Amino acid sequence: TTHLVWFRADLRIHDNLALAAACRDKNAAVLGLFIATPQQWQDHAMAPRQAAFLWQNLQALQTALAERGIPLHVREVATFAESVEEIKQFCAKHQVDALFYNYQYELNEHRRDREVERCLEGNVVCQGFDDSVLLPPGSVTTGNGEMYKVFTPFSRAFIRRLQEGLPECAHAPKAREGGALTPVSPLKPFDYPQCAVDETLFPAGEQAALARLRHFCQQKVARYPDERDFPDRDGTSRLSAWLALGVLSPRQCLHRLVTEQPGALEGGPGAVWLNELIWRDFYRHLLTAWPTLSRHKPFIGWTDKVRWQQNDDHFQAWCEGKTGYPIVDAAMRQMNETGWMHNRLRMITASFLVKDLLIDWRRGERYFMTQLVDGDYAANNGGWQWAASTGTDAAPYFRIFNPTTQGEKFDAQGEFIRRWLPELRHIPDKAVHQPWTWAEKRGARLDYPRPIVDHKAARAATLAAYEAARKTH
Ligand code: FAD
Repeated sequence: TTHLVWFRADLRIHDNLALAAACRDKNAAVLGLFIATPQQWQDHAMAPRQAAFLWQNLQALQTALAERGIPLHVREVATFAESVEEIKQFCAKHQVDALFYNYQYELNEHRRDREVERCLEGNVVCQGFDDSVLLPPGSVTTGNGEMYKVFTPFSRAFIRRLQEGLPECAHAPKAREGGALTPVSPLKPFDYPQCAVDETLFPAGEQAALARLRHFCQQKVARYPDERDFPDRDGTSRLSAWLALGVLSPRQCLHRLVTEQPGALEGGPGAVWLNELIWRDFYRHLLTAWPTLSRHKPFIGWTDKVRWQQNDDHFQAWCEGKTGYPIVDAAMRQMNETGWMHNRLRMITASFLVKDLLIDWRRGERYFMTQLVDGDYAANNGGWQWAASTGTDAAPYFRIFNPTTQGEKFDAQGEFIRRWLPELRHIPDKAVHQPWTWAEKRGARLDYPRPIVDHKAARAATLAAYEAARKTH
C-alpha cells in the first residue's frame, strides 16, 4: 500500500499527527507532497518574508524526511482549486491508497480539503487530524455545547481539560525499511516574491525551534509575566514564526513547558505563557465555530456600520512608520524590517490605525499579513478584531489606547524607539515620546514627522463614529 502525507502548515517530522499515522503501517510506502499555490498566497497577502521562511523550512523538512526514507515531492500550481486537481493526479500516478493531512481551519483551506475528499472518494481513504491546536475545535464548549464567546471562561474550561490529561505528542517516524534516500534534489524557488529573514532571529528548521523552546521554558518563562510587555527586552519566546508554519507544534510547547515548570497548569510559573498558547487555540476554535470570520466580517455586526476614513495618506504614513507618534513608528519599522513585531506593539499600532486614524481594521489586518513572518490568519484576525472592538472578546470600543502614554509606560527610557528611529537618537529619554514638543521649546528642527493627528480630537471623533454606528443598528 502507498500512503501520502500532504504537508501544508505542518512542516515538521516530530509530533506531526498525519505523518505519524501514515507511518504506522511498517509495510506501507510513504510519500510526502507539498503544493505551492502562489496566486492563492497573493490573495491571502502572504508576506514575502514568510514565503522565504517557508521555503527554508520546506528544504529542512525534505532533508529530515529523506533521512527516514520518505521522499517529499514539491509541486507548484496557482490556486487551491488547482491543487485539488494536482492531488487527484498525484494519487492516480503513484497509486496512493490513503491520504493523510492535518486540518487547516480557515474557510478557503477547509473548502479545498472537503473538495479533495469529495474527488478522491471511493479511490483513496482520506484521514484528517486536529494537529495545529492543543485541543480540537468544538471540544471545549459551554454547558450548552456552544463555543465560548469570551476568553476567560474558555481558558478555564480549557485548563480543566488539560488537567484531566495532556494531549500526547507523536514520535517522529523511524526510518523506513529501504533506509535513507540520497541524493535529495534541491528545491526550486517558488514563483512568489521572497525576502530573506534574518537567520540569527529566525533560523530555519525544527531543531532551532526546539532549542529555542527549551531555552525559553528553562530560563525565561518564569519571568515572562514581568517582562513580556516591554518591547526592548527579549522577554517573549519569539516562537510564533515556527508555530505559524507548523515547524513547531503547540503540543510540543505544552509538554516542554510542564516538563520544565511542573506547576504551570495549576497557576504556577509558566501559567501566563500557557494562557497565550490558549489564546492561539481560542482564535482557531472561533474560526471553526464562526466561518464568517474568514470572510472579513466583524463578529459584532453593528461595527460594520462605522464610517471609516478613506485617508490614503494617513494609511501610508502608518504603514511606513511616519505618523509622528514614536512608539507607533518604531513598531512599524520593526515589523517592516524584521517581519516580527512585539505583541504590546501590535496592540498599540492596531489601536492607532483604527481608533486614532479611524481606518478600517481590515486594511491594517491585510498590511500586517504582507509583512509578518509569523502571519497567521486566526491570530491576526483575532488580534485586529480585538483592537478594533469588533470581535468576540474585544476591548470595549470606548477603551482607546493613548499612544504617547503607552510609549511612556512600556518604553520608559525610549530605548526601543531610538533603536528603530535613528532620527530621534539625540533626544533625551523623557522627551522621546513627544519629540516635537521638546524641539519646539528649543527652536530645534527635527527630521521626523509632526503627529499626523491630535490624539484627543481623534479619540472624540472615533467615539462619535462608533456611537453613531451603534445607534443605527
Ligand atoms: P509569546 O508571548 O512567547 O507567546 C507564545 C505563543 O503564543 C506565540 O508564539 C503565539 O503562537 C501564541 N500567542 C501569543 N499571544 C497570542 C495572541 N494574542 N493571540 C494568538 N496567539 C498568541 N500572532 C501570530 O502568531 N500571527 C499573527 O499574524 C498575529 N497577528 C497579530 C495582530 C494583532 C493586531 C495582535 C494584537 C496580535 C497578533 N498576534 C499574532 C498575536 C501575538 O502578538 C503574537 O503571537 C506574539 O507577539 C508572537 O510573539 P512570541 O512568539 O514571542 O509570543
